[in-house]
Amino acid sequence: MSEDTLFSKIIRKEIPSDMVYQDELVTAFRDITPKAPTHILIVPNKVIPTVDDVTEEDELTLGRLFTVAAKLARQEGISEDGYRLVVNCRDFGGQEVYHLHMHLIGGARLGHIPSVNK
Ligand code: 5GP
Repeated sequence: MSEDTLFSKIIRKEIPSDMVYQDELVTAFRDITPKAPTHILIVPNKVIPTVDDVTEEDELTLGRLFTVAAKLARQEGISEDGYRLVVNCRDFGGQEVYHLHMHLIGGARLGHIPSVNK
């Protein structure tokens, strides 16, 4: 089934997660291996494997990732200090789960965006 990614199972609540938000377009849950005090994944309910698979039809859903990120950042109390939103794409981008997702990372001062891995 095309909807069968790890994150689809979390979205359908077949796999447990610390879910913090869900609507008709996106679902957000805490990362199982947080890289900062706040680390939340915001995921389209529909499977879009990578950024390279995005189409104009997805614009509403992808816009929702940002409005939900901003809302959750306020809820987490990290808006004023600031935070980082990350979307990894494929192997060189460091993508592990092929179901597009946005990382909301914050709660501490973050390092610079990494440069090329030698
Ligand atoms: P990517 O590297 O694909 O951008 O990010 C995938 C993220 O999913 C990683 O930060 C990883 O810790 C997280 N992750 C992997 N498996 C699970 C899981 O079963 N539950 C949750 N909540 N997060 C997961």
